[in-house]
Amino acid sequence: MENNRYSLNTRTLVSGGAGFLGSHLCERLIKEKSDVLCLDNFFTGQKRNIEHLIGIPYFELVRHDVTFPYYAEVDRIFNLACPASPPHYQYDPVQTTKTSVHGAINMLGLAKRTRARILQASTSEVYGDPAVHPQVESYWGNVNPIGIRSCYDEGKRCAETLFFDYHRQNQVEIKVIRIFNTYGPRMHPNDGRVVSNFIMQALRGDDITIYGDGSQTRSFCYVDDLINAVILMMNSRADFTGPVNIGNPNEFTIKELAEEVIRLTGSKSKIQHKPLPQDDPKQRKPDITLAKSELGWSPKVALEDGLRETIAYFKGQLR
Ligand code: NAD
Ligand code: UDP
Repeated sequence: MENNRYSLNTRTLVSGGAGFLGSHLCERLIKEKSDVLCLDNFFTGQKRNIEHLIGIPYFELVRHDVTFPYYAEVDRIFNLACPASPPHYQYDPVQTTKTSVHGAINMLGLAKRTRARILQASTSEVYGDPAVHPQVESYWGNVNPIGIRSCYDEGKRCAETLFFDYHRQNQVEIKVIRIFNTYGPRMHPNDGRVVSNFIMQALRGDDITIYGDGSQTRSFCYVDDLINAVILMMNSRADFTGPVNIGNPNEFTIKELAEEVIRLTGSKSKIQHKPLPQDDPKQRKPDITLAKSELGWSPKVALEDGLRETIAYFKGQLR
């Protein structure tokens, strides 16, 4: 029954809807014939990501900064607004914290007033440089509160706190997912994240920049898998709040990723080592037992297949 909770023309607000994940989510919601209200201030998102949706009667685009209140009648809210790549969230760290914290307060206030169900795009960064591996939801993390990643990590942690307090204090129906590194078409080519950097460098024949010795690990989830999980979580039974890890548990070193990108692009790029940024987590891999049992979800797309799709997208961008 829970999956039928929303009928045709459910009014859905997606904050950060012009971004990488947000644009895929809007597209998916439109396919399901939900009325989508996409809010974005275009800090890292691009109109190009959603231009194919503009003109569809179900789709509405509003330029809005979520650090300011927003008033509308909605049935559900996906709160994705926040720059996600380290260079972007470190560009204006105060605004990053405001986006996570004031943005959460504004979206939760809207959910409280309209009785909308609200999903928060939290992050594996709440675990910081984790001392527990793989990361389980019950792990409280190892986060530097004053470092250069803190505006993002602590902002997202505070947003989780706000979600659970609005839930306990005001009975807001919340859903919290902790997203692990996700990649795919519509990532910003210059956003500085490792997958987009390596592919763009390989396609241009530039050196591939590995920070540190490349032994640090990440687990990469393809965007289609991620969006399936987001929808399943929104439609899950009311008393399942999360937090739930969403990611692909296949773990790779950054050096392995570089080699795979070189192989799949057939590039002649060489590897260049650069200094490891401060507080760069050494390892990251989700334990997805909870997502499997509660949502019946697990990722399906192998890294090689997802990288091929992403490489094809970036090739198109270079033309
Ligand atoms: P993205 O940068 O492509 O998208 C973020 C969107 O939010 C952009 O369109 C941007 O313009 C918008 N935005 C930023 N600040 C805003 C503000 N103050 N008001 C309105 N809009 C604003 O990043 P993404 O990868 O699509 O990430 C989406 C969400 O998922 C973020 O909240 C991010 O923290 C979370 N997340 C992503 C990943 C990942 O690997 N992609 C991992 C963990 C968490
Ligand atoms: N990284 C790298 N070269 C790059 C970009 C990133 O070696 O050009 C490394 C980065 O230091 C980190 C990992 O790749 O160890 C993932 O970085 P990303 O910025 O994608 O996301 P993070 O998981 O660190 O938030």
